[in-house]
Amino acid sequence: MDTKGDIPGKAPTGSDIGKMDSKAAGMNPYVGLVSSLRAAWLTGKTRAAEHRVSQLEALRRFLDEKKQPILDAMASDMRKPPFEVELSEIVLVKNEVNYALNNLSSWMKDEFVEKNLVTQLDTAFIRKEPYGVVLIIGAWNYPLNLILVPLVGAIAAGNCVIIKPSEICSSTEKILAETLPSYLDNDCFAVVTGGPAETTQLLENKFDYIFFTGSPQVGKIVMAAAAKHLTPLTLELGGKNPCYVADESDLQNVANRLVWGRCFNAGQTCIAPDYVLCSAETQEKLLPALRHAITQFFGPEPRESPDFARIISDKQFQRIRALLGSGRVAIGGQTDERERYIAPTVLADVQPSEPAMQEEIFGPVLPIITVPNVDEAIAFINRRERPLAMYVFASDSKLVHRVLEQTSSGGFGANDTMMQTTLISLPFGGIGNSGLGSYHSKFSFDTFSHHRACLLRSLGLETVNALRYPPYSERKMGL
Ligand code: NAD
Repeated sequence: MDTKGDIPGKAPTGSDIGKMDSKAAGMNPYVGLVSSLRAAWLTGKTRAAEHRVSQLEALRRFLDEKKQPILDAMASDMRKPPFEVELSEIVLVKNEVNYALNNLSSWMKDEFVEKNLVTQLDTAFIRKEPYGVVLIIGAWNYPLNLILVPLVGAIAAGNCVIIKPSEICSSTEKILAETLPSYLDNDCFAVVTGGPAETTQLLENKFDYIFFTGSPQVGKIVMAAAAKHLTPLTLELGGKNPCYVADESDLQNVANRLVWGRCFNAGQTCIAPDYVLCSAETQEKLLPALRHAITQFFGPEPRESPDFARIISDKQFQRIRALLGSGRVAIGGQTDERERYIAPTVLADVQPSEPAMQEEIFGPVLPIITVPNVDEAIAFINRRERPLAMYVFASDSKLVHRVLEQTSSGGFGANDTMMQTTLISLPFGGIGNSGLGSYHSKFSFDTFSHHRACLLRSLGLETVNALRYPPYSERKMGL
């Protein structure tokens, strides 16, 4: 479903008409849309700084004017607390827009580079060129942020863009489909709605760049589709983020920060701490601190708390509930299928072979695996896929640096969880199974720009240039 044509009362645009034609002809339904964006791209319209600025400002207006419908949509999709929506879906996106607007002119400038002896009189620079027509595919857990933050980078870099939000958060998808187009230049930006079938058809088309956020399984499908056209891409994927807690840590602060990271958005966060590694003694001391933190944050009955979200779908609910049989339920464990409620839960003494350790948890459930020491924790982490984020809690900075040096992950945090992502100066991305490439702020601009290597020479000084032309005499060999 191409949304532009589906909005009641809205006349189909040129791209919709293209799509209808291709549908009627039994062709891929997105051929017309992609070619109309390509035509807009070829006009050069999106390359102009003024166009980029106007679209970024329009995006900011969308966030301001549609704040309440956004809050309502996320409440309806997953009972996401308004504070969490404001922080993670609105403020973070607006920060990106403002930062891009403030820095765009310097980012767009040619970057002059060092020259060698034979190019001393020439001009050598890197030109940041837009790729062209870009496809951005989002996941459901931060349904606005994961579409709009990359969109900021793609607009700033001067591209035409098709966004494909997750179909799972249907109310948020509807807002993006029905209201965002009225803010943006519809010749250059389009929203496509739908799930795997529509995305598969979309991916059959040739794009100039693909930006995908989602699971490693679907990431492989997207990468295979991109390979057919040799399209470069970024993959923002997931995985199990380890968290090592050292024996000498201040355990109440550790517990507060762990519970916050695990329970924000009911644990449905790609950089949430997925499991804890610590000694058996630390586990025993950590459990009452975790219980205290959960009660402080959500009261004695977290189900009643307005600050605790619900699981997005029945499928996800059942998947997470099935993980509760791992280890022993030390805290929480209550569930309610009707509400898709899973209490903040801590599983103690979990074995690496149990279900909770076989997949990304993506819910408010924290397994603890005991290890005798930091060496075993490092070995445990290194035996698994490289995660999107890794956390260490320790007052000993040498220990923090040791874990940092001896492991690998997309991002790293010491003595806190998830806060690394609030810094606009840090790239965000995974490594190996957790992703390919990175974005946020200037890193987004660079991701969506081709770095064109340019050398501008004059036609003069031919005697000097003749030194490299055949015939290669012995005298030239000695040069
Ligand atoms: P998903 O991979 O199921 O879906 C992501 C997108 O791909 C959706 O838009 C969906 O419509 C589309 N899709 C699904 N199946 C497809 C198929 N077979 N062919 C083509 N397209 C398909 O992921 P999800 O369930 O929406 O999100 C959860 C995953 O995303 C978790 O693994 C999480 O860690 C990860 N994630 C990563 C980041 C990050 O920034 N690295 C952020 C959020 C979520």
